Amino acid sequence: MELYSDKINKLIEELSALPGIGAKSAARLAFYLINEPEEHVKRLTDTLLDAKQSIHYCKECYTLTDQELCPICASEKRDHSTIMVVETTRDLAAYERTGKFEGVYHVLHGAISPMLGIGPSDIKLKELMRRLEGDVNEVIIATNSSLEGETTAMYISKLIKPTGIKCSRIASGVPVGGDLENVDEVTLLRALEGRTEL
Ligand code: ZN
Repeated sequence: MELYSDKINKLIEELSALPGIGAKSAARLAFYLINEPEEHVKRLTDTLLDAKQSIHYCKECYTLTDQELCPICASEKRDHSTIMVVETTRDLAAYERTGKFEGVYHVLHGAISPMLGIGPSDIKLKELMRRLEGDVNEVIIATNSSLEGETTAMYISKLIKPTGIKCSRIASGVPVGGDLENVDEVTLLRALEGRTEL
């Protein structure tokens, strides 16, 4: 016998498909939502749909934004000749939280992983190379220190070498295999300041 009715099961199933949500949390969320006032649930679904429909890539750095240019790329206060390359928008946010980086970013949306079949053309790499045709002094590679992150860093540095643009890699103070967004700000700053030229 099924524990819950079909529609409750369906809701739990959808919620448990979300990252980090196990079956128990999904059930808890499902019953929470069912017991909430209808206007609250509507506000949540409207917000989800609105975010999904209006958020896209910044046309310059490829971070997620609801504008044509993200606030960082649109800012005249930022140093547009220094580009920090990160894997995800969340990594960008981690560096922004330090408040100390004055350059701009480039979000790859992934890292090269031969094991997972993710090649250079599956991430925003040619978009990065296109940006380097402009006025760029330094590229700081801040991909994660995982195998994929290191592979990607190496690949990018080889691509950049012939351009003569300075290319550096953040120091490996970041724990190996650790996601950048989980690293505290002091460690991120130390990694940035201790970057080495490739
Ligand atoms: Zn941008």
